[in-house]
Amino acid sequence: MPNCYNCKTELTESNKSKEHIILNALGGRLKSSDLLCIKCNSDMGSSCDGVLAKQFALISAILDISRERKEIPIIKGGKLKDGTEVNLLNGNTPRLANPKLESRKIEGGVEYKIVARDEKEMQQLLSSIKKNHPLFDIDKAMDSAKNKKSSLKQPITYQQVFGGVEAFRSIAKTAINYYIYRKGNPENIVELIPFLLGKNEMDIVKHFHPNKSIYKKESNEVIHLIHLVGNKHSKTLYCYIEFFSSHSYLVTLSLDYNGPNISHTYAYDLLNNKEVTRVVQLKLKRDFLINLNTSFDDFPIVQEKMNRLLKIAHQRQLQKEQNRIIENASNEIFATKYKNEKVISEIMMHEFIDKVATEIAYLWHGERVQTFGDMIDNN
Ligand SMILES: [Zn+2]
Repeated sequence: MPNCYNCKTELTESNKSKEHIILNALGGRLKSSDLLCIKCNSDMGSSCDGVLAKQFALISAILDISRERKEIPIIKGGKLKDGTEVNLLNGNTPRLANPKLESRKIEGGVEYKIVARDEKEMQQLLSSIKKNHPLFDIDKAMDSAKNKKSSLKQPITYQQVFGGVEAFRSIAKTAINYYIYRKGNPENIVELIPFLLGKNEMDIVKHFHPNKSIYKKESNEVIHLIHLVGNKHSKTLYCYIEFFSSHSYLVTLSLDYNGPNISHTYAYDLLNNKEVTRVVQLKLKRDFLINLNTSFDDFPIVQEKMNRLLKIAHQRQLQKEQNRIIENASNEIFATKYKNEKVISEIMMHEFIDKVATEIAYLWHGERVQTFGDMIDNN
């Protein structure tokens, strides 16, 4: 039986814990029960994992990657040009973050303009108005409210900072977990344990974007990749980590490495949900590891990788929406309206095509924003 690499307790059926080597929130699937005991697992960084997960939440959502926990979290923090806050549901549906209630005095009363996101919310807002205006007729106002689904013809802006101490701690944990998973000797990383536990800060994780990709990328792939190198002669142990084929980091695990030469690679294809083989060319000198700093010169490289990623995400979203439209139309026309017909007639086919064409045209105009009603009250 292996031991917990932190407290050295022997791992048994009753105290072992399953640890995702790459966060499951990021779509990571590789896991091991041979790393940490339950207690150490919980001491190590659920908060830092949360920070890292949040940094990649938008990318995970728009790529619609699968993970063990199925639901796609709501992504907050989107902004329209005028500052209106927007949330993103299901990775593709923008929705106002808050309802809008505006009022202004007019002759003989107050005019309210309400944009609510659903019927229930509209009811609540109208009830709050009724408190100030007892004669106000909620039912009448509800009747006059329009349920409007409109396409969003402007981009949503997100701001996301990548990196920082907590995120780096989580990334270091991925590197260390992988090292132990590949049967590395825990003695070589023992100095990093306080850092993992959040007891000190260490400068061992850097943004790292080599000018040339260190492995051959397939044209439309999105992968997570871990590449671990131990070099006996230069006494270095380091780990290259790349998330979503776009954000890459270098973790210096030891400059006093005392083990054999090792080189291990793990790669996971996120769009096809399978482990893949990638041959990585990366040999870093000891001096390079010591002197590496994050450089702003890397920015165009990161931007290019992000653009590539967004393009792939967009294609996937379009595909997903088109499938949904076809499925809906088919359900509505063939499985519901004409469910008793044995043969598909020309009329049925036309209705189906019409339905699909209308929705697809709508789709290509832009994304959707769901609002419930604009209404005016003269009370
Ligand atoms: Zn332990």
